[in-house]
Amino acid sequence: MRQRAEPQDFERVLSSMCTVPHPVARQAAERFLATNPGDPGTYETVAELEDEAVDALGELTGLTDPAGYVASGGTEANIQALRIARNRADTDDPNVVAPVHAHFSFTKAADVLDLELRTAPATDYRANTDAVAELIDDDTVCVVGVAGSTEYGFVDPIPAIAELAHDVDALCHVDAAWGGFYLPFTDHSWHFGHAAVDTMTIDPHKVGQAAVPAGGLLARDDSLLDDLAVETPYLESTSQLTLTGTRSGAGVASAVAAMDELWPAGYREQYDRSMDNAEWLADQLRARGHDVVGPELPLVAADLSVPMTDELRERGWRVSKTGAGEMRVVCMPHVTRSMLRSFVADLDWY
Ligand SMILES: *Cc1c(COP(=O)(O)O)cnc(C)c1O
Repeated sequence: MRQRAEPQDFERVLSSMCTVPHPVARQAAERFLATNPGDPGTYETVAELEDEAVDALGELTGLTDPAGYVASGGTEANIQALRIARNRADTDDPNVVAPVHAHFSFTKAADVLDLELRTAPATDYRANTDAVAELIDDDTVCVVGVAGSTEYGFVDPIPAIAELAHDVDALCHVDAAWGGFYLPFTDHSWHFGHAAVDTMTIDPHKVGQAAVPAGGLLARDDSLLDDLAVETPYLESTSQLTLTGTRSGAGVASAVAAMDELWPAGYREQYDRSMDNAEWLADQLRARGHDVVGPELPLVAADLSVPMTDELRERGWRVSKTGAGEMRVVCMPHVTRSMLRSFVADLDWY
């Protein structure tokens, strides 16, 4: 056991969708380390904090009477959303329709839930609604829209997707795992107040600056969550709707602390700063002759070659690649202008 192992620092991390937790979030996480919101009868305070977290997430997403819980992450929230859709539907052969850029957690969800996942092509990095419509049929239980795609940070036409879902009595699920804490400060139509969205994934442990693990599942109303409940014989509570049993009270407490501290002014400032940084980086790359995608949200993809990104990695930079091989820089809260300046200087060195 390496007692003195140090985590990486964030000085050169341009690839992560997680970030340095806000100091108040870190402190709250430490205080609630030994609590389990999965057993609310015993751990009452953290259970109350979880209600606060859901209320705060509701406020961010245009939902006055939100239902939901703090999940282990976007993956669990996406699995659970599809589970709701499958369980309430009346079909032996359920399918889910999602755009091709939907996060790989939907592949896991489809596998676990025995659903057919149908993916529709995108046009200009957003779901093509004609293609989505073509894949929908009477066995479709859920239509997914992404608000802030993992690879490019683009936002699907959520109102149109919601309409298509409801035409066949399917649910509309929006995946705002990453984008959800940036989008309130844009004019995109993406949340419950903008469209007939039924469920949503929004992760405090990404742009929300909470400690890992703190994901979020939201539902338009409580009755949707009933489809998840199982009986819990040995707990004080009688049923449980989460996928995991014992859960992180640290994640819950830190999500509440971060949102208390930062919503809305702090998150707005963060969005402004990160978007400025993304636009600055995009301009710098374009000026050097690269094709740049976006930025629609604070995420920049550019056609730098794959060997180039390997060399950057050797210089300590953590950058990731899109499926198409483009370099991808995620402008998270820890990514500052001076970091980007030295990054661009290193690019010029080659
Ligand atoms: C990160 C991400 C997920 C998965 O969330 P985890 O917290 O890593 O499980 C799902 N959807 C989108 C759009 C994401 O960016």
